Amino acid sequence: MSNQANYPIGIDLGTTYSCVGVWRSERVEIIANDQGNRTTPSCVAFTSEEKLVGESAQNQAAYNVSSTVFGIKRMIGRQFNDAQLQTDLKHWPFKVKQDNGKPVVEVTFKGGVHHFTPEQISAMILLKMKQTAELKLGAVKDVVITVPAYFNNAQRQATKDAGESAGFNVLRILAEPTAAALAYGLDANSPVIKNVLVYDLGGGTFDVSVLTIEGSDFKVLATSGDTHLGGEDFDTLLVEHFVRELQAKKGQDISKSPRALRRLRTACERAKRILSSATRATVEVEALYDGIDFQAVLTRAKFDEICGYLFGFTITFIKKILDDAGLQKSQIDEIVLSGGSSRIPKVQQLLSEFFGGKKLNTSINLDEAVAMGAAIQAQMLKGSTVQRIKDIYLVDIAPLSLGIESGVERKMTFVVARNTPLPTTKSQNFTTVYDWQTTVRFAIFEGESPYVDSNALLGEFRLENIQSALKGVPKFLVKFTIDLNGILHVSAVDKLTCSYKDITITNYRNRSSNEIQALGMKKY
Ligand code: AMP
Repeated sequence: MSNQANYPIGIDLGTTYSCVGVWRSERVEIIANDQGNRTTPSCVAFTSEEKLVGESAQNQAAYNVSSTVFGIKRMIGRQFNDAQLQTDLKHWPFKVKQDNGKPVVEVTFKGGVHHFTPEQISAMILLKMKQTAELKLGAVKDVVITVPAYFNNAQRQATKDAGESAGFNVLRILAEPTAAALAYGLDANSPVIKNVLVYDLGGGTFDVSVLTIEGSDFKVLATSGDTHLGGEDFDTLLVEHFVRELQAKKGQDISKSPRALRRLRTACERAKRILSSATRATVEVEALYDGIDFQAVLTRAKFDEICGYLFGFTITFIKKILDDAGLQKSQIDEIVLSGGSSRIPKVQQLLSEFFGGKKLNTSINLDEAVAMGAAIQAQMLKGSTVQRIKDIYLVDIAPLSLGIESGVERKMTFVVARNTPLPTTKSQNFTTVYDWQTTVRFAIFEGESPYVDSNALLGEFRLENIQSALKGVPKFLVKFTIDLNGILHVSAVDKLTCSYKDITITNYRNRSSNEIQALGMKKY
């Protein structure tokens, strides 16, 4: 074991698996965990005696369903009443409660009931990855953590908070497809300009990004995706299929048994993986329900039939992103795959067909490329002396548009357009919409709709005691700054009184936009 302290590391904090890498001896090394595995299940379990993370948690899941937590990345940075979270809750065998508008998991630990936030559970997984790295490298502090490119402000901030709780100095929050592109680009080392599309389908999230890569220059042109679409959804559809089949054929209703559902899910996930190389797989669970064994054959054709609409859905994002990037299909030089679910043959077929039968690039390791890119970025940020790393120039973008509610019709005035290169600072002038207003409210939203009710509220603040005047007379300069982590800071200054207020958006507020009463303000 080396005692050299302070290697910066990169962590891919995945929905189902996490992976840690480090730049050593002129290349990225993926660090295996204490079980010898290069990826670690993103799973945390609580028992009467201890807390388990990784394989040890996953292995006992079927016997401790209500206190084994997985898929926490689908919860992080969301509000409890988020529609997608509410759908997920129906499939999770552990309880999720509401605390001040935010979700917390409820588990039994050492004989008592405990609640943990998604940030705390994520911190436990990150700590496990830190310990994995430390066994090999000695003490580590600095980290780059990856998030889906389409993660919003709150999800990024919550992930950063989790990293800090795990005792890290978070050097950067990096977008997963950008990380995969770094791993690909460093390896390919092509001097000519290439337009590269990264298709990243993981356990819980889907991202697609288009970059131009020229030697060591990486520029993200556009990004899109769904932070709630991945392998776990395919597993859920398979489970639902077999639950229905059991009901119809055998009259058994296993839908109320979390343990049976959990065991069936594990068997479905295994069969799904087999179907990436074989055309048939057996889904088998001993004594699934009432002591009766379960066995069924799943063909690849049936799997494609059950999940095909989700595979097709991922392809619809590609058209939008090509439009955003101003590129034709024929201008894409390479299609790089990333994420475990991009191994699915039907997914690869649909993607290739969309590009007229183009060959897909599978040169990077689907499970490790994101951690590799994070490790490269970590080394860059620590001022590497390695020429290949020193030369890298990386420009990422804001995935979602940001703006302010203005006027009386709940309209969104955009301040930062989606796909704006980071870091960025954009300003706009606003004024009042009512005569004699003494307070103005600034409500900050994220999303593409021209009306704020369809976008996500990030936060709000007020400027009080402004000079009372006819509408349109006061002038406020509102400034949005997004840092390299994709995290937003907003300030507003009253040009007349010079009074100033600012806010770093940390997490969603505990209210929906509909509950907020508009206090007039508009763009001028
Ligand atoms: P990631 O988030 O990139 O680690 O991806 C994990 C997801 O990939 C999980 O949902 C796995 O079930 C899925 N996966 C891994 N290997 C395969 C495979 N051979 N075929 C289909 N899905 C896979």
